[in-house]
Amino acid sequence: MNYPFENKKDQKLSFSNISHSNLRADCDNCFGFCCVALYFSASEGFPANKDAGTPCINLQSDFRCKVHKDLRKLGLKGCIAYDCFGAGQKVAQVTYNGHDWREDPETAQQMYEVFLIMHQIHEMLWYLTEALRLEPVRNIQDNLNSMLIETEKLTLLSADSLLELDITSHRFKVNALLKQTSELVRNKFHGGQKTSSKHQKTLSRGRDFIGKDLTKINLRGENLSGTYLIAANLRGMDLSGTDLIGADLRDSDLRGANLTNSIFLTQGQINAAKGDSETKLPMSLSRPSHWSK
Ligand code: SF4
Repeated sequence: MNYPFENKKDQKLSFSNISHSNLRADCDNCFGFCCVALYFSASEGFPANKDAGTPCINLQSDFRCKVHKDLRKLGLKGCIAYDCFGAGQKVAQVTYNGHDWREDPETAQQMYEVFLIMHQIHEMLWYLTEALRLEPVRNIQDNLNSMLIETEKLTLLSADSLLELDITSHRFKVNALLKQTSELVRNKFHGGQKTSSKHQKTLSRGRDFIGKDLTKINLRGENLSGTYLIAANLRGMDLSGTDLIGADLRDSDLRGANLTNSIFLTQGQINAAKGDSETKLPMSLSRPSHWSK
């Protein structure tokens, strides 16, 4: 798979075999962990309020979702937006070697806790994999590569070791590298861009852009990490070099937007947004089937 700004010359520095294709949910090889392990509420777009460790009312005995084809029709946006980054199948097939929580109820609670940790590890792998392939990070590529390998090794730990892991301090180290990556990429796009008369305004401070029309603002190379872009108008925007890590894109209007060279976007964010056939996506992401033609 090719990535924007892919640094082909230095590929010999990459020793990890991991790619974004290993970090996609494979529900056929999972035991519905996301539909059991998580706490969720109806107000966040899930079918009903439920405690962590309680199976969703729609989870069948074969670990499939009874309403999978109708998630959008039923307004289950929480389910649509959730992305396990492949953590589910890793826990099911590697950590527990194919044993599921129904056949082993005594271990079930431990499995759910392990899944939540594995989810964090796989999410970090997703971002590190992307960072490593971005051309502006040449100077920190070795550090990113070492961190990717170190993080990948964590996925092979036993359940007991995963539960003892200091995931917060590992995430802290990963975040520092991702922040450096973001700055390097955003500087590249902030640089030689002239602001057109169409984009005279600058982004106000803060993180809350819910329902805002941002189409008059130059967002190239902006840091939109962790912002609330729920139902924001981003129609036709050029989001090259824009950092979208953790941004809440539920119902944001991405019709005709160019996200090809945006950074740290995930499939879950895209699934929750509105787009069309004119929306340009990074190569690692798929166009949601519900997007308008
Ligand atoms: S509705 Fe389906 S996808 Fe959503 S939590 Fe329940 S079983 Fe999982």
